[in-house]
Amino acid sequence: MKYINFLFLSLLFLTACKSQTNEINYEVIKTDNEWREQLDQMSYLVLRKAYTERPYTGKYDNFYEKGTYHCAGCNEPLYQSNNKYNSFCGWPSFDKEINDKLIYDVDYKLGYPRTEIKCKKCGGHLGHVFNDGPKETTGIRHCVNSAALIFKKS
Ligand SMILES: [Zn+2]
Repeated sequence: MKYINFLFLSLLFLTACKSQTNEINYEVIKTDNEWREQLDQMSYLVLRKAYTERPYTGKYDNFYEKGTYHCAGCNEPLYQSNNKYNSFCGWPSFDKEINDKLIYDVDYKLGYPRTEIKCKKCGGHLGHVFNDGPKETTGIRHCVNSAALIFKKS
């Protein structure tokens, strides 16, 4: 019985933790309908439903102009073009974000933990972070969906 109580309390604790992480107070908050109206379909699916666009299909995969990449949901600047590099993975890759613009989370969608990256201002899903980035800089690869970004020329 004690064990069952412990199990129950652990579950309760885990549930409490989970609901806490869902209650981040983002600066930009919109209803699902508002997001759907504002965003094109692919950006909506990526940012709000954590979809991943098919590799080599995004508009910024092979794109290397000088400028800044903003969140397609709330327009916050997230990445600089001088941190973009070609990882040949099929998605825009960056070795570094602009300081303090992202939230890191864990997702188990593929059955193993991956580090999910979200926009700190609106909570929009951007992609994932991996440890196979360029060794000469950070060693980190931000694998970001093009549909989550808007490029602005500098
Ligand atoms: Zn955003």
